[in-house]
Amino acid sequence: LNEPKKFLGVAKMIPLDQYAITTQNISADWLSARQLQLDVLRLDKIHPVISGNKWFKVKYYLQKAKAERATTLATFGGAWSNHIAATAHAGKVFGISTVGIIRGEEPANPSITLQQAKADGMQLMFVSRQAYRDKQHFIQQHPSWYWVNEGGYGQTGTQGAAEILSFVDDLETYTHIVAAVGTGTMLAGLINASLNHQQVIGISSMKGNIDLEESIRLLLVNKSSSFSINHDFHFGGYGKHPTGLIEFINAVYHQHALPLDIVYTGKTFFAIKQLAEAGDFRPGSKILMIHSGGLQGNKSLPAQLLAF
Ligand SMILES: *Cc1c(COP(=O)(O)O)cnc(C)c1O
Repeated sequence: LNEPKKFLGVAKMIPLDQYAITTQNISADWLSARQLQLDVLRLDKIHPVISGNKWFKVKYYLQKAKAERATTLATFGGAWSNHIAATAHAGKVFGISTVGIIRGEEPANPSITLQQAKADGMQLMFVSRQAYRDKQHFIQQHPSWYWVNEGGYGQTGTQGAAEILSFVDDLETYTHIVAAVGTGTMLAGLINASLNHQQVIGISSMKGNIDLEESIRLLLVNKSSSFSINHDFHFGGYGKHPTGLIEFINAVYHQHALPLDIVYTGKTFFAIKQLAEAGDFRPGSKILMIHSGGLQGNKSLPAQLLAF
């Protein structure tokens, strides 16, 4: 019980509470009525800022930056980006300067995420949405910086994400692994680390991102691995959080003491329930949902909208 899991050989890099990761069983009528089991891997618990999948994705970039003797690690993101928050904090603890290229003009009242990133020492460079599109332009201006793609997309991020499943007890007993998808980096890691009999399902948080499957396929070790992306649960688009979603997240919190985020994991849990009710999982299926963190982003909501 609670045996120290090999924390990826980099346990000493950052004092994260990896022992806090638990697998939470969800008990509900909509599951038992169909003989389904659902467990949630609580990656949100490792750290309040470097939370969830972001730590897994960023760690090998930090290592590589150090190995290449870069003194600055630079990356891209929006005002509420979990990736910006995690990179800033990880850089501070790890001892490397960070720069964030932020999409959009500098706001009069910066988001809590950006305030935190700044407090963690990240240098923020605000650029117009137009300029933001040309990532190569920034990279050419600062070739000595170690550059990380928006959202940590890439092989190096995937390599870290693949280690997520090493925290799952009895991994082989699961028939399905379900996770939220942004860039697809985490999902690619999960696919790479999944077992042959397991179905990996990604729930896209974006509306109609048709390039997603291909972006993921580029990161797979075994190119014939099968996976599926569901595009039906975006709730209006990336970052959109209609009242129905907020109410759902509050209900889940009250019923299961499971806090979800409005951009990714709330939509993913909702999708699992809908798919279960639609009979998409065979009776007897055992589903693992990855709680990929992101709770810091909930601070974009007005106070008291969420029950936690
Ligand atoms: C960033 C993020 C994702 C998406 O991860 P990708 O690797 O970009 O697909 C999912 N869930 C949460 C909570 C995130 O912060």
